[in-house]
Amino acid sequence: MSFYPPHRTLMGPGPSDVYPQVSLALARPTIGHLDPEFIRLMDEIKQLLQYAFRTDNELTLPISAPGSAGMEACFVNLIEPNDTVIVCQNGVFGGRMKENVERIGATAIMVEDSWGTAIDLDKVQAAAKQHPNAKAIAFVHAETSTGVQSDAKAICHIARQYGMLSIVDTVTGLAGIPVDVDAWGADAVYSGTQKCLSCVPGLSPVTFSDHAREVISTRKTPVQSWFLDMNLVMGYWGAGRQRAYHHTAPVNTLYALHESLTVLRDEGLEASWARHQLNHQALKAGLEAMGLQLLVAESDRLPQLNTVCVPDGIDEALVRQQLLKEFSIEIGAGLGQLAGKVWRIGLMGYASRESNVRSCVQALESALSKQSFQFPNGAAMLAIDEVYRQAASTS
Ligand SMILES: *Cc1c(COP(=O)(O)O)cnc(C)c1O
Repeated sequence: MSFYPPHRTLMGPGPSDVYPQVSLALARPTIGHLDPEFIRLMDEIKQLLQYAFRTDNELTLPISAPGSAGMEACFVNLIEPNDTVIVCQNGVFGGRMKENVERIGATAIMVEDSWGTAIDLDKVQAAAKQHPNAKAIAFVHAETSTGVQSDAKAICHIARQYGMLSIVDTVTGLAGIPVDVDAWGADAVYSGTQKCLSCVPGLSPVTFSDHAREVISTRKTPVQSWFLDMNLVMGYWGAGRQRAYHHTAPVNTLYALHESLTVLRDEGLEASWARHQLNHQALKAGLEAMGLQLLVAESDRLPQLNTVCVPDGIDEALVRQQLLKEFSIEIGAGLGQLAGKVWRIGLMGYASRESNVRSCVQALESALSKQSFQFPNGAAMLAIDEVYRQAASTS
């Protein structure tokens, strides 16, 4: 029998709601991955990714696997056995960077900050000073496990200052908050398709600076991963040369990525960032009017991933189950240290819209009432109305 998934509203940490036109693009006829028309599509995708990342980097392309593969691609290409890498960790994903470094046979110097706060720049500076031979500084720009953004520009600047490469995870950042690869001077940056791009999961856009490219092409040891070796992948994605078969590109998924990047370009990056900010403000106003609190300090909050503290005495899993069963809304649970303590409400890409803010807050009102949580009746919707009214009057 065929499989028909239920219709959900995806307001967790990803995947997010897919743009309807992206779903339609997936169903277009499959063509060969060396078809001249497909090569034209690849060139357009590269240009659209350069727009999204704000970079002129020649080596900008989607890895044919999810965000975790983009992470791995950056580490295995730039880092060799016995290298040292400074890894910042303030959530789950920084921990995965450490794993990547250690599996290569390199040493990770950890700069740790508590979950829910941004990366402390002074600590990064001190680590760079103390380990001047480190090859790279790696960090997560938008920590999806905690809802925190860190100052990517400043950390890339520290890396430059000490002659180190920067490796940046912006899987959740891209299209939701400013990502400015060239202005940051970042060397290796990876993202994902299923967060603020609202494409289907399965691809990881990456971009490497010219300096990073040079480091990759002058390695002492071959890249341990054949599939992710950029020296080989470049033979398929590289501009102006004869494209050679490396692997069969996920043809239809690339139609979908092209479509979602076209949606982004038509909206405009700045407009996309502003929309994520506005819907975050409305959600925050609604939640606070109910007496709920956000975990992260205002200055460090990600508008696309809202970490909400679970009030005392509330069964957090039951709330999520009721949202899913009764409203078909998916929100996320806490991860790692934050398991059981927070909900993670995503307003990513196509999911970042007014109707989702309203229905999620109404669903939470319903689920929390069932557990006798007290809040002023109707206050959340009034607070949300006010945010949208003010935005309409100033635009
Ligand atoms: C989702 C995510 C990843 C992993 O992406 P996958 O597509 O799940 O492999 C990596 N880093 C961050 C910050 C993420 O949010």
